[in-house]
Amino acid sequence: MTTLNRRMFVNSAACCAVGAVANAAQHRDRNLKIRDVRAIITQPTTALTVVKVETSEPGLYGLGCATFAYQSTAVAAAVNDYLRPFLIGKNPGDIEDIWQSCYQSGYWRNGPVLNNAISGIDQALWDIKGKVAGMPVYELFGGKARDAVPVYVVPGGRSLNEMEDRIRELMEQKFYYFKITRPDNRDPYRGPNIVTRRVPGIDPSQGILETEAGEIFEPKQHFQRVIETFEHLRGTIGSNVELLHDVHERMPPIEGIGFAKDVEQYKPFFIEDLFAPEDIDYFRIVREQTSTPMAMGELFNNPHEWNPLIKDRLIDFIRVHISQIGGLTPARKLAALCEAFNVRTAWHGPGDTSPVGHAANLALDFNVWNLGVQEAGPMWKPDDRLREVFPGMPEVRDGYVWPSKTPGLGVELDEKAAEKYPFRGITKAANKWGNLRRADGTIVRP
Ligand code: MG
Repeated sequence: MTTLNRRMFVNSAACCAVGAVANAAQHRDRNLKIRDVRAIITQPTTALTVVKVETSEPGLYGLGCATFAYQSTAVAAAVNDYLRPFLIGKNPGDIEDIWQSCYQSGYWRNGPVLNNAISGIDQALWDIKGKVAGMPVYELFGGKARDAVPVYVVPGGRSLNEMEDRIRELMEQKFYYFKITRPDNRDPYRGPNIVTRRVPGIDPSQGILETEAGEIFEPKQHFQRVIETFEHLRGTIGSNVELLHDVHERMPPIEGIGFAKDVEQYKPFFIEDLFAPEDIDYFRIVREQTSTPMAMGELFNNPHEWNPLIKDRLIDFIRVHISQIGGLTPARKLAALCEAFNVRTAWHGPGDTSPVGHAANLALDFNVWNLGVQEAGPMWKPDDRLREVFPGMPEVRDGYVWPSKTPGLGVELDEKAAEKYPFRGITKAANKWGNLRRADGTIVRP
């Protein structure tokens, strides 16, 4: 591809980088070095952490997602205080070597803080390599295996009929995959007023109750309502949509097995996080009793967690959060392992992944053969503040995300705009996962 043709593909947001890109491409053997590494925390919506890796070539840099929204400053310290001095002077093209050396750098490994820090660097290096090559990252991985990436969205709705209506509207907009939640109350893991103190004497029979202190969650009643929701939607809308549900590891395992059997008749696309990572041996038991497809891995950090489930064909979808496992380099290998066992990918794509991280998810979504579906998260109806801070962020159109031709990951960070939305510190929202309780005051898993 000539420089002229390449210029025709890039969008205006990337124009100023093109000169540097072409220059670097001409001089790729010129001993490119990492000049600086910096973690940037911004909070246009939730707290998002992005790592910027600058090179010895003026204007040539990469961005990577290192968002661990609930311990942001710990990740920033891992990047700025520990990995930065370790990386300066290295060749940014040596991605595999840098990943392996960062992984060993703290001796203890596989934790979410170091994994996110490595991810920020790793994704930034893939971004740089794409810019040097003048190609989107999915081209570096081997090119597109599909024309567009299908996404799932959350229709919401406060009653069964309202949810049904919203799904019908979204079907007209060409959406096909829907994550359903209990409709007659707030989604328990998204509600803003999760209880923060013990409230004795609450009647658990309604599953979720509004109290002075917030919400109380009771699993048995809650998941019965989820089954009724599946029943309603299959009975009214029929089978021409995919429905999925996230259990969020919120049932005792034996009740989870019963739920998986009960929901099988409604043909879910997948049931996610039926068990906690601490209970993954239960996947062997549930597999013998039902063909309900299983998605797992959002909370995984460690190959010891996913390897047994994949090799023994105990799950159908891998759901890992790519920054939590250390970035694109390990995620590519994980996707290849999954392909060998016909496990499909469904990378975690929530609001607490930066747009750079969503672009990294998509780099694999376009390339791997064994894609299942992509969580749309903020790529569907993005907040204007996100668009302002992250020009070029991927967005959903007609139920899909379409490929960008911009070299690298294709997303910019407007640092001036990011400064308008500074990190707000430890908020109630950031502490919510440690404060969700049952009616008697017992902490439940998120
Ligand atoms: Mg989930």
